Amino acid sequence: MPSTRWPMRSGTEVTRKLFWQDPYRTQLETRVASVEGDQVTLAETILYALSGGQESDHGSIGGHPVREARKDGREIRYRLDPNHGLGPGDPVAVVLDWPRRYRLMRLHFAAEIVLELAYRSLGPIRKIGAHIAADKARIDFEWGENIAAHFPALKQAAQAIVDADRPITSAYSDEAAERRYWQISDFDPVPCGGTHLHRTGEIGRIELKRKNIGKGKERIEITVDERPTPPASPQAV
Ligand SMILES: [Zn+2]
Repeated sequence: MPSTRWPMRSGTEVTRKLFWQDPYRTQLETRVASVEGDQVTLAETILYALSGGQESDHGSIGGHPVREARKDGREIRYRLDPNHGLGPGDPVAVVLDWPRRYRLMRLHFAAEIVLELAYRSLGPIRKIGAHIAADKARIDFEWGENIAAHFPALKQAAQAIVDADRPITSAYSDEAAERRYWQISDFDPVPCGGTHLHRTGEIGRIELKRKNIGKGKERIEITVDERPTPPASPQAV
């Protein structure tokens, strides 16, 4: 393949984050941009790094399992096992653990909807934390009473949005600064740099569970049903 397919980065450029323009992409041929010991950066990437509470992707670079993906300003540093043998400019295949990412995307968007509905119906309510793992998502609130009292209404409203299978818009609000948002009909745009589904219907069945995590604090745990992972995007060649 001609090397002109990969614009070489100048010293000021950061990795091109293809997980935003196509979050359903699972394979990529690119080049190593820099190497520092066991850490590498890439010219382009499909592997998300922990941010906004969404866990890092699992995957491999040049056949080496990614042990950690870490945001460093706008750069993403991937830690591989020592002695990976990669050097700057080396062509590498990047492979994403797609079933795990897809679950993260379903749980992430389920949490997005529950959070927006909580703001809408319980406001003023303050979010004090959030985390999206591959088995469940959680949102923590400052809230003085048992939040489970609101679950029937919250769950019904969230499931209605899922069942309506609304298209989800994900785009830049400021491309140079890598600021992103998502939007569905009837909601204001919500700033978020995570990876988002194309449609709300992909979330499936939502379940909510309450955890009391201390005085004046309430946690909503969100799970989604088991379902087969759909095919990823047709891969660019
Ligand atoms: Zn998001």
